[in-house]
Parts: sequence; C-alpha cells; structure tokens
Amino acid sequence: MFHTSYIELDQSALNHNFNYLKKIVGKSTKISTVIKGNAYGHGISDFVTMMLKAGQSHFSVFSADEAQICREVAPNAEIMVMGMLDNHEIEWAIKNEIQFYIFEIDRLNYTLELAQKLNKRAMLHLELETGMNRTGLRKSEVKEAIKLLKQSNRYILKGICTHFAGAESIGNYVRIQEQIKSFKKQRKQLEQQGIVAELYHSASSAATLTYPQTRMDMVRIGILSYGFWPSTETFIHCVKEKTDKTDPLKRILSWKSKVMSTKTVETGEFIGYGTTFMARENMKIATVPVGYSHGYSRSLSNQGRVLVNGERVSVIGIVNMNMIVIEITDIPETKKGDEVVLIGNQGENILSVSSFSELSDQLNYELLTRLPHSIPRIIIN
Ligand SMILES: *Cc1c(COP(=O)(O)O)cnc(C)c1O
Repeated sequence: MFHTSYIELDQSALNHNFNYLKKIVGKSTKISTVIKGNAYGHGISDFVTMMLKAGQSHFSVFSADEAQICREVAPNAEIMVMGMLDNHEIEWAIKNEIQFYIFEIDRLNYTLELAQKLNKRAMLHLELETGMNRTGLRKSEVKEAIKLLKQSNRYILKGICTHFAGAESIGNYVRIQEQIKSFKKQRKQLEQQGIVAELYHSASSAATLTYPQTRMDMVRIGILSYGFWPSTETFIHCVKEKTDKTDPLKRILSWKSKVMSTKTVETGEFIGYGTTFMARENMKIATVPVGYSHGYSRSLSNQGRVLVNGERVSVIGIVNMNMIVIEITDIPETKKGDEVVLIGNQGENILSVSSFSELSDQLNYELLTRLPHSIPRIIIN
C-alpha cells in the first residue's frame, strides 16, 4: 500500500491502560470501551482487534456504520449504539444482536413492532434526560415508554443510562450533581413501576475518575483507553495525592512520516505561502508529506513541533494541504528519507498530542479523530 505517513498502534500500551482502568473501577463495575470517531482516530478494526486480545468484549459506538465495522471483527462481543440509528438500520441491529439506546418514542415504537415481526428480542438501553439536554427521554416520554414496554415482551432491558454535561471540568460541578440526583430519583420511580434494567450506567472517562458514585454497574470509557486524559484537571485530580506524579497512562498511537526533501534558505526570505515566516538567518529546512488533508491541523501553522533525528524541531510557515515545512538548521545531517515523528517518541523525546503548544486539551479528541481512515495502521508489540 502506498502512503505518505503511517500510524503505529502499541498493543502493550493498550494492555497497560486497560489493566489500569480495571484496577480503578474494580471487579463489580464493567467497562465498555468507546470506539466512536473511528476509535478516536486509531481505526476501529485494528483497535477492536487489539482490545479483544486484551480481553475486552464490550464496545460502545455512536452509529450503525461503526457497529457494523466492529461486528465484523468482533462477532461475539457486546456492541452498544449510543446515538444514531436510522429506523431502516434497526432490523440489522436486532438481527445482529446490537444493543442500542432509546431516547425517543418513535424509535421505541418502531423497534418493538419490528421485533414482534421478526420474532426476536431487541436489546435496549433507556436513556434518561437528566439535564444535558441533548438526547434522553424527558419525564412525559418516559411515561409513554413505560406504557409501550409493558405491552410488549419483544425486548430485553439491558440498561438504563444517562450522560453528564462535562464532568471533566470542576466548573460544571453543580450541574453534574443535579444530574446525579435526577438519575437516582428517576431510577427509583422506574423501579417502583416494575421497570428494572440489567445494568445502570452513566459515567464516561471523566465522571469515572472524578465522581466515583457515577460508576454504577458499567462505565463507558473512551479517551482514557487510548492513553489520554479528558482534561488536565482530571489528570491532576488523579495524581495530586500520589507521590509518583508520572502519567499512569500510555499513549497507544504514534504517527510517523519521513523527510521528503531538504533545502537551504537565505536570511530575509519568506518560507511557504504568504509572509507568515521570514528566515532570520541562513536556514536549512525540510518538507514532510503530511498536511491538513491528512489531519495535521492548519492551526499548527508556525506552532507545531515534530521529531527528527532525535530532536524536537518547529513547523515553520503555513500548514499546506499535503505538506509541512520544518526547520532543520540545528540538525544539518538530516536527509531525505529520515523518519519524522508527528506524534509519539523518538530517542529520548516525546511529542504528545497535547504538547501542541497553545492548543487546548479538547484538541486531544479533535486531532485524533481527524486522522484519516486512509492512513495505514500498523500494530506493534
Ligand atoms: C463519547 C461518549 C463517552 C466516552 O467519553 P470519553 O470522555 O471519551 O470517555 C461515553 N458516553 C457517551 C454517551 C459518549 O458519547
């Protein structure tokens, strides 16, 4: 396969993170690994294959297309769709034992009728509105849902769940507390009406770490599985009481390319499009065949760093569609074909996603998920 860069996935780092998470939540709480967004850019097929090897058998996705890719490599795993599922995809979901959220009456109606026709049981998770105001059944809808559920036996109530509106920031503390209260109350009301689920779940990565009471029977862990923290706040929360403040997680993904060509530029010349970068001395530069079309954000223009020959060097000028220019004045031995690390380790140096200078933590999620599907993934270790 021809390519201008590739992504390495480290099995032993993945095992390490999964074991760390299991230790945190304990034996009584199940972990579902969230693999939406192409497994946070890691690639669903490869990542799920690696997770299966690590012993995981429960995955959460956003939509039916992701569930389909997951089902291909994990024929026996539990798969839960937390978001989009068009009515015409529900038949496939029921037949393939895909579990899915119910957050509107139309989907529930359609599902129960279809399950009746297929003579099968749909595996459902009732999502309750507790204050995020995205998806989730409101009180009146819950009432209607109960009515429908009581008239049917074509379902298994796998879960009752909700989602918090930003557990990664202490600024949302009050709102999250209200959501926790609301969930508890609704759970009780449902129980009183005979609606009981196999599992109750509400926590994503951040809530799992900062609000332990939200772990319940299952946690839905995305970002931590990949070795990233939901926010700096959550990282500090986890290490502040420890004497060893090193990061307990390991990054799984590295992104690598190589030097395409090198050249010299004289003092006073502009480099690349426009006038954002002027050489303040005689400089040596190199081009790397990765640009914003490959997921290297244009906002890293004059900001990004890469590793080459064991050194951390700067991206200079504007990130192009297909390439970046880096400065190699201090490592003049650099030549065509030398490895360039965009994310990951080289020698003693590490280039973490979040180290991309000014850029926010949110970039963890965004930069990763923007890595194109077409970049080859290679599993190592
Ligand atoms: C994305 C998502 C998660 C996982 O979030 P992380 O912060 O990556 O752990 C959990 N639950 C729902 C409903 C989600 O959409």
